[in-house]
Amino acid sequence: MGGGISGLAAAWELSGGAEGPNDATPRVEVVEASERFGGSLATVPFAGRTIDLGADGFLARRPEVITLVEELGLSDQLETLIASGAWLWARGALHELPGGLVLGVPTDLREILHFKGVTWRARLAAWRDAHFPKRLHLGDDATIGEIVRTKLGAELSYHLVEPMIGGIQAGRIDELSAKSVFPALLDAARMNGSLMKALRPLGSVNPGPRAENLSSGPAFYTLKGGVGSLPEALARQLRERGVVLRNGVAVTALRRTPAGSYPWEVDTLHTTTPANAVILATPAPVVGALLGSLDPAIDRLKQIESAGAAIVTFALARDEITLMKSGTGILVPLHTSWAGAGSMMVTAVTLLDRKWPHLSRDHDVVLRAHVGRSDDSRWMEMSDEAVTKRVIEELVVLLPRFGAPQETLLQRWPGGLPQYRLGHELLVDEARAASAKFAVALAGNAYDGVGVPASIGSGRRAARQVIEATSSSA
Ligand SMILES: Cc1cc2nc3c(=O)[nH]c(=O)nc-3n(C[C@H](O)[C@H](O)[C@H](O)COP(=O)(O)OP(=O)(O)OC[C@H]3O[C@@H](n4cnc5c(N)ncnc54)[C@H](O)[C@@H]3O)c2cc1C
Repeated sequence: MGGGISGLAAAWELSGGAEGPNDATPRVEVVEASERFGGSLATVPFAGRTIDLGADGFLARRPEVITLVEELGLSDQLETLIASGAWLWARGALHELPGGLVLGVPTDLREILHFKGVTWRARLAAWRDAHFPKRLHLGDDATIGEIVRTKLGAELSYHLVEPMIGGIQAGRIDELSAKSVFPALLDAARMNGSLMKALRPLGSVNPGPRAENLSSGPAFYTLKGGVGSLPEALARQLRERGVVLRNGVAVTALRRTPAGSYPWEVDTLHTTTPANAVILATPAPVVGALLGSLDPAIDRLKQIESAGAAIVTFALARDEITLMKSGTGILVPLHTSWAGAGSMMVTAVTLLDRKWPHLSRDHDVVLRAHVGRSDDSRWMEMSDEAVTKRVIEELVVLLPRFGAPQETLLQRWPGGLPQYRLGHELLVDEARAASAKFAVALAGNAYDGVGVPASIGSGRRAARQVIEATSSSA
C-alpha cells in the first residue's frame, strides 16, 4: 500500500529483487492513491530539460539507491555532483561556508575563526568548545538544538546547523531527535569533551542545500532523467514481472479475516482484495488511521507529523543573472528579517545546473528556491502567483543579480517530510512490533530516515520481513 519509492522498492524485493521472480514468488499488488507512482519523486519537462520537482539527488555514501539502479540496469544514467561548496546568507550578505562542517556543526576551529558570517561571540564559543568544552548531561536522547546550543552557543546553532539540517528535514533543531536524525552528534556529545573534536573523524561534510561531501569521491548522485525517473523505471519493470500496479485508488480499509484462507482484506472504493500480508508504505498517520484500533502503539503513528515545502524553479537567460563565483547554492537561516517586517520565506536556493552537468546549457541558467519549514507554512495560505512573486523579490536580494525569469514553476509538497521528534525511535519500534503480530510491515520515510536511500532500504527490509513471516507460518 503506497506507490512511493519505498512501496515500489518493497514490491521489487517481493518479486525477487535482483534475481527476479521464480516459482515461489507471491502475487504482488501495489495500490497507490494518486494518479502517479513515485510519491515525493517526480519529474517534468522544464526549459528544454527534464527536471525534478521533489528530490533532485541522493547520498552516494549509502548503497541502497545505487544497488537498485544497478539491478534495474540503469547504471549508465547515474551522474555525480560536479560542484562543491555553498553560501550562507547572514548579516545581510553572502558568505562562503567554512570547510569542516559536519551537517553544519563546525569541526575545524581555524575555519570557523575566519568565517565572517557569524559574530565574534560565535567564534569565541567555538574556541571555548575546543579549549574549555561545556559539559552536558544527556539521557537516552536530546534534541539536536539542545546539544549544539549547549556546546557551541545559539548563534552557531541557528545560523549554521539549523539551515543545514532544516534544509534536509524542513524541521527545527529544537524539535528534532538527535538519536533518530543525527546519532553521531549524540555519540560525540556523550564523550563530553569538545564537540568539534569528537565529530571531526566523520570527515568534512559540507552540505549545500542538499548536502555535498567535500572529501574525495562523489558524495551525491542523480539520474540523467531525474531522480523521478527511478520510480518510473521501477514501475515499468515491476509490470514486466507481473506485479499488479493500481494507481488512482486509495486503500480505504484493512480488515482482518482470521477465519478465512487469507488473514487480510484490503478495501478500495470499488474492490476488496484478499492478502497474506500487507506492507504499508504510506505516510504514518494513514497507517494509524487504518489500523490504530488494533493496538495503541499503531494508533500513536498518527502523532508523526510531516512538514511541507514548496519549490519554485526558474530558468533565466544567462545575461539576466549573476551568481556567486562558486558553489551549488545558498542557505538562509530561519527568521532572517525581510524588508523590515517579518522574515524571509526562502530557506535555500539550489543552482540545479551547477550541480548536475546534464542540466547545464550555454544560454540559460536553472535554479530552484525552497520555501517552508515545520513551523513556517505561510506559503500554504498564499496563491501560486503570490508565492512566486515573493520568492522572486527575495532572490533579487539574495543573489548578486536576479533579472526576469523566462520560465517559472511552482510545486507544492503539502507533507512529505516527516519530523523525527524526541521519542521517535521508541514510537516506531513499538508500532513495528505491534504490526508484525498481524503480518503487517511498515515501510517509508516516516520510520527509518528521510531520503531516497533510506526509503528504498526501508521498503526492501519490510518485504524481507513479510517473506520471512509468511514462509515461516506456511
Ligand atoms: C520537497 C522535497 C525534497 C526532497 N529532496 C530530497 C533529496 O534531494 N534527496 C533525498 O534523498 N531525499 C529528498 N527528499 C525526501 C525523499 O523524497 C523521501 O524521503 C522519499 O521519496 C519518501 O518516499 P516514501 O515512499 O517513503 O513516501 P512517499 O513518497 O510520501 O510515498 C507515499 C505514497 O503513499 C501514497 N498513499 C497515501 N495514502 C494512501 C492510501 N490510503 N492508499 C494508497 N496509497 C496511499 C501517497 O500517495 C504516496 O504516493 C525530499 C522530499 C521532499 C518532499
